[in-house]
Amino acid sequence: MRYHNSIIDLVGNTPLVKLNKVTEGISATVLAKVEYFNPGGSIKDRIAMRMIEAAEASGALKPGGTIVEPTSGNTGVGLAIVAQQKGYHCIFVCPDKVSTDKINTLRAYGAEVVVCPTAVAPEHPDSYYNVSDRLVRETPNAWKPDQYSNPDNPASHYHSTGPELWEQTEGKITHLVAGVGTGGTISGTGGYLKEVSGGAVKVIGADPEGSVYSGGTGRPYLVEGVGEDFWPTAYDRNVADGIVAVSDKDSFQMTRRLAKEEGLLVGGSCGMAVVAALEVAKQLGPDDVVVVILPDGGRGYLSKIFNDDWMADYGFLPSGTDEAHIGEVL
Ligand code: PMP
Repeated sequence: MRYHNSIIDLVGNTPLVKLNKVTEGISATVLAKVEYFNPGGSIKDRIAMRMIEAAEASGALKPGGTIVEPTSGNTGVGLAIVAQQKGYHCIFVCPDKVSTDKINTLRAYGAEVVVCPTAVAPEHPDSYYNVSDRLVRETPNAWKPDQYSNPDNPASHYHSTGPELWEQTEGKITHLVAGVGTGGTISGTGGYLKEVSGGAVKVIGADPEGSVYSGGTGRPYLVEGVGEDFWPTAYDRNVADGIVAVSDKDSFQMTRRLAKEEGLLVGGSCGMAVVAALEVAKQLGPDDVVVVILPDGGRGYLSKIFNDDWMADYGFLPSGTDEAHIGEVL
């Protein structure tokens, strides 16, 4: 019989898919690492596995313990699945900009979810960072993975995402483009690829306009899961050769194009990363191989990015003729 002992045995080893339509006019090969193939639907399953297994090994996470983490949803899903399979309880703290679909998903896996306001400073007692600290203090046998400072976050990518890309491209990858949230993906994957290629692979971060990585102050933006208003220690400042800032509008329009033209129903940070990847690829030749990481799927964003009314309210639909409504107007 051919079967896996648990769903968590399927974390990682995601496919690389060539982008064919949005790359029109570009001679470099642009390949997408499609992370929604992970069991929890995002790249964060990788860090959940490694952070939990390392905490078990060190004794920081005790049998039957509770995992408490501030998370925008994807890390929560990864942690919830791994925790459930290994017999731990989870409490997640989310900012209120996170879609209800994501929060309900966490609850479906059996996790508890506490929702906090986005519009307060990180040092405010109600900020999602501080609420989670309080829950750690008040819950017996609690362990906080802290993806922002946990070295097993970048390490998971150093040991899985990086080697997978090197193997899948047979060492032909020339550029890696990844959105930056905690910085774990770009630091671990980029760090490995630089090391194995002797520094030949160039690493480019994609960041929402207004976030600190591209020189902003943390001004609010709507793309979820990327950008920060502080510098996490999971982010290695020496890895990225450049950072491309991308607007919400460009990110979301590209996200819709990925679904419509490439058959990839993915999240907003994927559209953002692809905008940056195309910006990079435009300047390259036919021998270059650009890999862009697509962190999650689009099902959690149906009422936002894939909803014309929501897009129109923010002025994110293409200006001039509104293609989505041409049929109705005529
Ligand atoms: N996109 C999405 C949707 C995410 O949830 C995350 C994780 N915060 C990222 C991108 C960025 O990944 P990282 O935290 O590894 O920088």
